[in-house]
Amino acid sequence: MVVVMFDYGDDLSVPDPSPGTRVSASGCAADTRVAARGGGDTEATDRGGNGGKLRFECTGCGDCCKVRDDYAHVYLNPGELRSLAALLGMSVAAFKRNHTYKDALGWTQLRFEADHCPFLDPGSGKCEVYEARPTQCRTYPFWRSLITDGRWHEEARRYCEGVGRGRAYTPEEAESLMVAQEHADEG
Ligand code: SF4
Ligand code: SF4
Repeated sequence: MVVVMFDYGDDLSVPDPSPGTRVSASGCAADTRVAARGGGDTEATDRGGNGGKLRFECTGCGDCCKVRDDYAHVYLNPGELRSLAALLGMSVAAFKRNHTYKDALGWTQLRFEADHCPFLDPGSGKCEVYEARPTQCRTYPFWRSLITDGRWHEEARRYCEGVGRGRAYTPEEAESLMVAQEHADEG
């Protein structure tokens, strides 16, 4: 699993709400999300084996914005903090105070509410800050740890119902998203 490391801003000393869980996140690489939960399937569905193609179409299920086993973290860099704060009409300091905490390793993370991201509308499965969602959300599930030899890793299929659906991403598109995720800590 890609771990995006950040260490910015003041230490708020808020305890980790999900101890013992591993890195991760949510969101999605798609520019649009299909409204219906569980919908959005297409004739291109091929979840058993994708023939080497990286097919993906977000269904808008919202599952990647919830705590799922070891996946429970959304990391933020300074640019992402600024973008989220601006979208919400808040100062960065107020955003950090209200929505983030600094973990034991000094990384700034979104503070989850119960079992999901504070910006997930559980009813609709929609992200309330979609335009400013963090890179790890924007690039999911195109993380290098979820792609092996140009194919989706089994874990990607297990955690994201959009994997294997929709159009095939080119290797270049997938690589671009993976690199964006890996460089998110520079933002
Ligand atoms: S910021 Fe949006 S896309 Fe990212 S985890 Fe939260 S609700 Fe999901
Ligand atoms: S789990 Fe996959 S299909 Fe569901 S919202 Fe997240 S990216 Fe989209």
